[in-house]
Amino acid sequence: MPECVFCKIGSRELQAMVVYEDPDFIAFRDINPMAPVHVLIIPKLHYESLAEFTAKDATLLGRMLLAATHIARQERIAESGYRLVINTGAHGGQAVSHVHMHLLGGRALQWPPG
Ligand code: AMP
Ligand code: ZN
Repeated sequence: MPECVFCKIGSRELQAMVVYEDPDFIAFRDINPMAPVHVLIIPKLHYESLAEFTAKDATLLGRMLLAATHIARQERIAESGYRLVINTGAHGGQAVSHVHMHLLGGRALQWPPG
């Protein structure tokens, strides 16, 4: 999927402010941050959305959550708290068709979202 922007960030073909990387995931700052800390965590493999995941991906999904808790500690928002969001599909507000998890924090977030 060479035209996918997030695949290009994952392969380092496109620059991003990377805050975390391991063999399977890369995390980088959102270009249009909605909070003082706004990081996107993506698998390097291309999945269009969360809806594509099946039981064989359970470990990968669990590790994505653990990567988020690691980055939250690294960004010093683990104590104050944060929110993890995976927008999925049109009504979910998903704009980029490569699954990504938002890590938001650094301020009190409102609930429910709009
Ligand atoms: P979503 O609405 O969940 O699909 O969110 C997509 C997010 O990706 C938005 O918050 C965008 O600001 C962000 N975004 C899009 N392109 C880039 C990029 N090249 N680098 C960093 N963030 C991006
Ligand atoms: Zn992709």
